[in-house]
Amino acid sequence: MAVHILVVEDETKVARALSEGLAREGYEVTVARTGEEGYYLLDARSFDLVVLDLMLPGRDGLEILATLRSRDRGIPVLILTARDAVEDRVVGLDAGADDYLVKPFAFPELSARIRALLRRGRAEQSSRLQVADLEVDVAARRVTRGGRILELTAREFELLEYLLRNRGRVVSREMLSRDVWKEAGRATPLDNVIDVHIARLRRKVDEAFDVKLIHTVRGVGFTVKEAAS
Ligand code: CA
Repeated sequence: MAVHILVVEDETKVARALSEGLAREGYEVTVARTGEEGYYLLDARSFDLVVLDLMLPGRDGLEILATLRSRDRGIPVLILTARDAVEDRVVGLDAGADDYLVKPFAFPELSARIRALLRRGRAEQSSRLQVADLEVDVAARRVTRGGRILELTAREFELLEYLLRNRGRVVSREMLSRDVWKEAGRATPLDNVIDVHIARLRRKVDEAFDVKLIHTVRGVGFTVKEAAS
C-alpha cells in the first residue's frame, strides 16, 4: 500500500520540489497550500506522515500541529522552520512534532528523515493501542479493560482495532465496509451488519463500565473516546 504524505507548504517552489521529489521516491503526495487547506485535508483523509511548514498564511503550522496532536498522537510530523527561528523549532517539538528541518535543506536529508520517521511509526503501530483503561495488544490479539480480559470474535477485534487506530475521528459505516469488511462498493450496504457488530462490541467493552468508550455520532458513524459525547 502506498505511503501517503501530506505536505503543507505555501511557497510554490518548495512545495513543487517536495511533491516531485517525494513522488519520485514512490510516495503518494498531497500538497496543501494554506493552513486551512491542510487542516481540512487532515480532517477529511488519512495520511501516514505530514511535512508541515510552520510559516503559513492564515492558520499557521503550530496551530495545525496542536489540533492534530489533540486527536491523533500517532501520525509522524516533520516541521520545516526558517534558519533563524530557533524558538519555532523548540515550540514545534514541544507541540508534538517528531522532527524538524531548517530551510533551506537538501532533499536527500528530508528523504532520510522521512524514512526514519516512517520506520519508527511502523514499529509503534504494531504494538499496543489504548484508550482509558482499554488496552489492545495487536500482536497478541489480546484485549483487556481495567485489567480484565475481554473475549472478542475476530471481527469484533478488527473493528475495535480500527476504531482505536482512528481514535478521536469519526469512523463512518462506509469506512468500516471498506477497511474492516473489505467490501467497498457492495450493492446493499452493510449498515445492519455493522450496527449489529458495534452493538455486540459495545456490550463487551462498555456495558460493565461507567465510562463508555464507543460512541455513536448520529447520522455519521462511530467514535472511540473517553469523554462523554
Ligand atoms: Ca512558508
